Amino acid sequence: MQLKKLVAGIDMGGTNTVYALVDEVGTIYGSGTFPTNLYQNFDQYIVALRDGILDLSSKIEREHKIMGIGIGAPNGNYYTGCIDSAANLIWKGSLPMAEKLKVLFGGIPVVLTNDANAAAIGEMIYGSAKGMKNFVVITLGTGLGSGFVVNGEVLYGHDGFAGEFGHISYKRDSRQCGCGRRGCLETFVSAPGLKRNTFELLINENTQSSLREFTFSQMTSKDVAIAAQNGDKIAKMAFEMTGKILGEALADLVAITTPEAIFLFGGLAKSGNLILDPTRESMEANLLSLWKGKVKLQLSNLDEDNAAILGSSALAWKELNK
Ligand SMILES: [Zn+2]
Repeated sequence: MQLKKLVAGIDMGGTNTVYALVDEVGTIYGSGTFPTNLYQNFDQYIVALRDGILDLSSKIEREHKIMGIGIGAPNGNYYTGCIDSAANLIWKGSLPMAEKLKVLFGGIPVVLTNDANAAAIGEMIYGSAKGMKNFVVITLGTGLGSGFVVNGEVLYGHDGFAGEFGHISYKRDSRQCGCGRRGCLETFVSAPGLKRNTFELLINENTQSSLREFTFSQMTSKDVAIAAQNGDKIAKMAFEMTGKILGEALADLVAITTPEAIFLFGGLAKSGNLILDPTRESMEANLLSLWKGKVKLQLSNLDEDNAAILGSSALAWKELNK
C-alpha cells in the first residue's frame, strides 16, 4: 500500500491545545488535547506536544509519514514562526514555537499563523470559500478575529500581524478592551461584547426580560441566544444592536479589500440568523452603492469542533504545495 502522507494540525488556544493528524482532503486520523497552561516551562509544553503527536502516529496502522506541521496560535506570526506577547498564555515574550517543533521533528516544514488566518485557510481549502480568491473570515468568540484572503493569498502585512479587525475603533474612549485601549470593535461584537450590549439595554430599557435574573458574571452569550429564540425582546434587541455594529464595520471593510464573500465563524456565529440577518441588513444599508447586493455574507460551513485543526493542517498543506 502506498505511503500515506499526513500533516499535524495544531490549534493552540488560551485554554486548550488540540492536535491532529490530517490528510490532504481533510480526513482526521486521530486527535488529542491537553490544557495549554499545564506546563510552567514552554520547552516542556513543546515536548508534551511532540509526544502527543508521536503517540497519535503510533496508533495509526497504515504506513504513513508526517510531512509538515501547521499551527494556529494567538498572536502567531507567519513570518517569524513566533508567538509574540499573547495575553492569554502564561509564557511571556516571543516564543519561537515553529523553530522548536521543527528541531524536534527532524527539520520538516513547520508553519504558524494566528487562529483567524488558519480559519481562513481552512475555509479556502475545505470549506465554502473553495475557489474564491478574495474573501474574509470573521471569527466571533471570546474576541473578534479576522483572516483576509486577497488575490488568493492570506494577507500577512509587513510584519506578519495584518488583519486585527477586532481592534479597529468602533467608539473611541468607550468600553475598555483587552488590548489596553478603549472602544475597539470586539468590545461590542464578540461573545462578551453581546453580553455588554445586553446589559446596556437592560439598563436603558424598561422592557420586561428573563435576562434581568442574571448577574453579569453568570450570563453567557448562549443565554442571550436562548432568550432571543424564546422571543425575549431585550435579547433580540441585543442581537440587533450587535449585528448593526458589525454590519457597519463590514461595510467599511468592503471598501478596503472588496471581498467576494464574508464568512462568520465561531461561538457567536452559531446563533445563525439572529446575528446574520441584522448584520446583513446593516452592511447593505452602509455599503457604497458600487457594492450593494454584491458581497455574500454567510456562516462558515466548517464543522465547529474540527475547524481549528483543519485550518492549521490546511496551512501546512498549503505550505507543502507551494
Ligand atoms: Zn482592542
